[in-house]
Amino acid sequence: RGWLSLLSVAPQHHSPKMQRLSGRLFSRGFATHRAYSTSAARVTKFGGTSVAGSSQIQEVMRLLRADETRKFTVVSAPGKRHDDDIKVTDLLYKCHELAASSGGSEYEAFFDDNVGARYREIASTLGASSSAELDTDLEAAKGKIHDMATRGDSPDFAASRGEALCGRLVADLLGWEFVDPASGSFIQFRADGTFDSERTADAVRGVLGDLGGKSAVIPGFYGSNPATPSGVQTFSRGGSDVTGSIVAAGAMTGPTYDSVIYENWTDVNGVFSADPRKVSTARSLAFLSYTEVLHMASAGANVLHPDAVAPSAQAAVPINIRNTKNTTHPGTLIVHDDDPRAQRGASEQVVGLTTPDSDKVVVVCTAKDHTAAVAELISAKTSAGSVIVAAGAAPTIEVNGASAAAVYGVIEAEGLFVRQQD
Ligand code: ASP
Repeated sequence: RGWLSLLSVAPQHHSPKMQRLSGRLFSRGFATHRAYSTSAARVTKFGGTSVAGSSQIQEVMRLLRADETRKFTVVSAPGKRHDDDIKVTDLLYKCHELAASSGGSEYEAFFDDNVGARYREIASTLGASSSAELDTDLEAAKGKIHDMATRGDSPDFAASRGEALCGRLVADLLGWEFVDPASGSFIQFRADGTFDSERTADAVRGVLGDLGGKSAVIPGFYGSNPATPSGVQTFSRGGSDVTGSIVAAGAMTGPTYDSVIYENWTDVNGVFSADPRKVSTARSLAFLSYTEVLHMASAGANVLHPDAVAPSAQAAVPINIRNTKNTTHPGTLIVHDDDPRAQRGASEQVVGLTTPDSDKVVVVCTAKDHTAAVAELISAKTSAGSVIVAAGAAPTIEVNGASAAAVYGVIEAEGLFVRQQD
């Protein structure tokens, strides 16, 4: 993967901030005047469960107001409020299908009763000042989803409305600026559908700078593609994490802020050593390096989108995974590979396990050097049908035919996990 080589090279820019991050603050004369600056910013990203309904959004607003360095916030679409609920994004994919197949009234009723109702509940409970604007936005979304579906466009426009409507509403409730990521000068895709990271980085830096210190809400997940009928394209599922990381990098590399943290707020206490629903003794990890979290994410740990690592890593922005349901927990802090907090002792050989599908367990090691011995241990002490060390650079082992709990147990018994927290 291209991302891996990106992470192993030194960060791309050498501003005074970078020197400070690498502990060489006074090594060059021009760095010193920045040493006294205290302009810090936190870029927050709230996932679907954190903006699922009015009570969750109220908590988000409390968190944002509690710390004035929380300048930019990226929001997902409202997710599940309870186990049987449906995410707004999934409702919108369904809307696109219905609009394409069954035409007018069935689609409109479905949109109003499901999508419209979710936003109206939030707006009326929290006292949004502009319910007329929300109605206008909902009607416009409903009409354009129908037009795009009947023209045979992709469902991207429909899907993007979950974040778009949520972002507008949250900006209104907070009295913050709203940034449209599909304006053409923010998140940008090329005509062939690939993401244009260079143009995006420049544009994002410019837009955040133009805000002149004002706070803003930015919908996650989508950007512009002038070659599509709607002009909109989304990242893959879970892509609001990517938007958040790009915004954090833009804040860090621009002139206004000299230290930035990307707070990625979700509904668990950080990145876990295994899915706690499958392994009851799994714990949250206090510190991970960018490379370690990339390996966990690429192996299927779904706490962070794999493409969300590179933008923050290249700008040396730490990523802090936090829990909106347990706001005093420090979560997981993801730092530069050279950071002392991410250095591993000889016994810390395994980061964690992922369970990408029912019969498979992937073990993510801290270094390729450890994979052979860990694989041998798993073969010797579990009844796994196959234990395969991945070819290539990724320090992962694929185990088939053994439960996650069994694999976890033998690694835990040998004391090979990295430091965990409660
Ligand atoms: N709402 C989108 C999804 O459900 C993107 C995101 O939540 O990050 O995949």
